[in-house]
Amino acid sequence: MKRCPHCGEPGLSWLHFSLATRHGPTACRVCRGLSYPGEALLVVASVVGSVLPIIALVGAIYMNSLWPLYIAGGLLLLYPVTVLALPAKKTTREASQASYRRWKIGVAVFILLVVIAGVCQSLGVG
Ligand SMILES: [Zn+2]
Repeated sequence: MKRCPHCGEPGLSWLHFSLATRHGPTACRVCRGLSYPGEALLVVASVVGSVLPIIALVGAIYMNSLWPLYIAGGLLLLYPVTVLALPAKKTTREASQASYRRWKIGVAVFILLVVIAGVCQSLGVG
């Protein structure tokens, strides 16, 4: 159990904490306070986690060897460890719901742009 930033008790499940985000925080079992892993490092970890497999795949093809894939796999195993090591950040239900709304708007805008790009391409524009 990880220590809760609200009450200081070890009330956060390791599994739930590692999956928690700003818009989907985990609740403390002792005080019901909400928290999630701090984000600065999480962004870095996510970028590395999404770029690394591509680099490994290109490296494996280029070097005609499986070693880049083994190394990338080993580094990806460090991801959950990194998340668990992050300090828990406090949040509230209102703040996490507001963040979730912003996240949904971001996803909607992204899908809209993809659809517009697809329509433009099929019409031969751009
Ligand atoms: Zn607590």
